[in-house]
Amino acid sequence: MLEMIPLETALDLLLKKSNCCSTEAVELSAAYRRVLAEEIVAATNQPPFNRSPLDGYALQGADLAGASHESPARLRVTETLQAGYVAKGKVEAGTAIRIMTGAPVPDGADTIIRFEDTREENGWVEVYVELAPGSNIANAGEDIRQGELLLKPGSLLESPQIGVLAALGVPNVPVYKRPRVAILSTGDELIEIDQELRPGKIRNSNLYTLAASVRESGGEPILLGTCPDVLQITAEKISAGLNRADLVVTTGGASVGDYDLVQKAMKQVGAGILFWKIAMKPGTPVVAAEAGEKLLLGLSGNPAAALISFEVLVRPLIKKMAGFAEYLRPRVTVKLMDGFRKKSSQKRFLRATVKLVNGEPCAYLAGAQNPGVLKSLLYTNALLEVPGNRAPLMAGEMIEAIITGHLC
Ligand code: AMP
Ligand code: MG
Repeated sequence: MLEMIPLETALDLLLKKSNCCSTEAVELSAAYRRVLAEEIVAATNQPPFNRSPLDGYALQGADLAGASHESPARLRVTETLQAGYVAKGKVEAGTAIRIMTGAPVPDGADTIIRFEDTREENGWVEVYVELAPGSNIANAGEDIRQGELLLKPGSLLESPQIGVLAALGVPNVPVYKRPRVAILSTGDELIEIDQELRPGKIRNSNLYTLAASVRESGGEPILLGTCPDVLQITAEKISAGLNRADLVVTTGGASVGDYDLVQKAMKQVGAGILFWKIAMKPGTPVVAAEAGEKLLLGLSGNPAAALISFEVLVRPLIKKMAGFAEYLRPRVTVKLMDGFRKKSSQKRFLRATVKLVNGEPCAYLAGAQNPGVLKSLLYTNALLEVPGNRAPLMAGEMIEAIITGHLC
């Protein structure tokens, strides 16, 4: 029998054996939440020209020396310039061009005065304030400098990144392909979610939980459905998963029960077992195998155990395959507000809600911690990591939390 291994060792081993997917180009409008595969260096300045940041007059600042309400500067208005056009003429001493926000600063002008400090009549504008030459000019490159490294490979493309790519004129974006992750739920007790409950049966929730988690991790779920605890069928489904996906994840049948057949099924499809059982709770029964370049992971069928082992073991793997530069969740030291007395020789993850109380992150246990209880995950935005063989946890202690959701 293979030995139980520490989570860190298991994760290290799997990460070493996984690689980024290949790349493809997608249209910018389809790039939301994709992972950038190349550096983005600004090919142009943004803005590309010196422009007016407000509606007003372009002029020479020196003409405003000594201007006030009592003795305004008087300048001749030579033209009106709308955003999107270039001035026909130049600004010379004693003249001004009426200019709108976003229009290029005309030649000869070094200052923009806002409408609110002026009054125009019969082709002349009176300016009531002084302004230092150079005021109110948004310089070319004020936002982005040509040649600047803006985005690194492995960055997630969200609204600001997409905006920057649009501003720089990148209509097709190089991204990593999403890893395809086949998900199979095993268990004779499982029925489909649209079926009536019958004695002894439960609905297959893991398939949907994990499919959502695969998406959140940047992967593309392939739902292989439900399969009974029958070796031949399990092996066939796993084999189908290997044909269609980059990674195969199963739930159920990974423990020591008479009908726990996933490990056998993995061997039957020719996969080599890497490890079986991780020293953690919930989620001890994890079987990992490899078939060629592809990994297979069999998780516990208990809904919370399946999701938590996915979170700490499979998510980082999918993120790495998806090309993310960062694939681990942030960790924060939090104050535990409730005690937890149960001792364990294995590392334990406790479901908790972390809230900021007077600016301090405080963790409240999210309810029942049993591996078969799914509901407490509804109230979980953090997993508290309790090392093995640790004394019972007391309220008020500081503990490390993996932040898995939004802070309340
Ligand atoms: P197993 O890992 O097969 O020993 O299953 C452990 C527990 O999880 C049992 O109570 C199963 O009925 C339950 N279970 C297994 N698979 C699923 C699933 N896909 N959805 C919900 N519960 C499951
Ligand atoms: Mg089972």
